[in-house]
Amino acid sequence: MDVVIRNARVRGSAELVDIALTKDRIQAVGPRSATTAPRDIDAAGCLVSPGFVNLHLHADKALLGERMRPNLSGTLPEAIEITNDFKRAYDPEEVAARAGRVLEAGVQNGTTFFRLFADVGTIGGLRAAHGLLLARERFRGLCQIQVVAFPQEGILRDPGAAELLDEAIKQGCDVVGGLPWYEYTDADAREHIDICFTLARRHDVDVHMLVDDTDDPNSRSLEYLAWKTMREGFQGRVTASHCGAMAAYNDVYAAKVIDMVATAGVTISVNAHINLVCSGRLDREPRRRGIARVKEMLVRGVNVVSSQDDVNDPYYPFGKPDQLEVALMMAHTAQLTLPHELEQVFDMVTTNAARAARLDDYGIAPGRRADLVVIDAPSIHEALRTQPPRRSVFKDGQEVARATLARELKTPRR
Ligand SMILES: [Zn+2]
Repeated sequence: MDVVIRNARVRGSAELVDIALTKDRIQAVGPRSATTAPRDIDAAGCLVSPGFVNLHLHADKALLGERMRPNLSGTLPEAIEITNDFKRAYDPEEVAARAGRVLEAGVQNGTTFFRLFADVGTIGGLRAAHGLLLARERFRGLCQIQVVAFPQEGILRDPGAAELLDEAIKQGCDVVGGLPWYEYTDADAREHIDICFTLARRHDVDVHMLVDDTDDPNSRSLEYLAWKTMREGFQGRVTASHCGAMAAYNDVYAAKVIDMVATAGVTISVNAHINLVCSGRLDREPRRRGIARVKEMLVRGVNVVSSQDDVNDPYYPFGKPDQLEVALMMAHTAQLTLPHELEQVFDMVTTNAARAARLDDYGIAPGRRADLVVIDAPSIHEALRTQPPRRSVFKDGQEVARATLARELKTPRR
């Protein structure tokens, strides 16, 4: 026994429990453990959760906001164009250093798993991927990282991108990305998805695409992605991010597509705060939220997650990054405010995201991986409301971050 976390509040238990860790595993969970360990931590009734999972983070673009010109239209196409200027001059060392600043903050906020998107295309070549693979190496032990080879300029629109994606996966990228809605025609969008599945099959990797990330009600890439997933037997291995066009689909079509997504076992990563900033920019009033139909998907049993996506870049000027903040944004945007809905929101940054990443040993139970975060709040409701410090973060049973904060209210002298 190496560590005991005492008096922990865990989900699904009315009583406080002690959590014992041995090496990189949880050894025991139960009330009042008599055993001692070299490291003994009193959680004092605080919520202890499995480490947060951030399934979608553009770490190669993170913090470019410190150097970019402003995105005047606030739209995705302008964000893509601004970023290209930087990408031409990417240096893997510089990308890894910028990504590292964001990863450090994320770990301190309790995230133990990140899926990082690396732009791969003819503008930046493999330089962003090399930078994030470097970051993955440097952060070994602090967090688990997957790198997605992501065609930010499209595949058919960017001749040469398919070969670069193939090469990026050969060189160590873990997941094949996609951006089908960005192609010029519906036929090209379908071919884009076909190419991604060919790569996924060739290298036996999972798929994570940015799908129907537009206000256009006729954007149809999610439907085809769900069909393709079923056709290829990839159930449980595909994630689609954003899907904001779902808000613009007519109700009958939306219901059909959501059923297809549920049947195909496609995870939807909503990242609502990004769409709140980027969607509906051309609307007069009333201005739509432009986010995927979260409540309808939950009713139909779709695996819904929410991720940080961007941190101070041309797409989004904020982001700490903190999955607890992401969850709070989700609660607002999707209007999830009832007690059971707050539990659903918390699932989106923990268990649902872990399922999408196929982390089989995730959770608080004996034998599971000892990736934990001690949140300075007694409940999920209070954690969301107060966004408190993370007292301790454990990765593979080792404490990798700790926060202490002394606050004082002073009585004014009369
Ligand atoms: Zn994204």
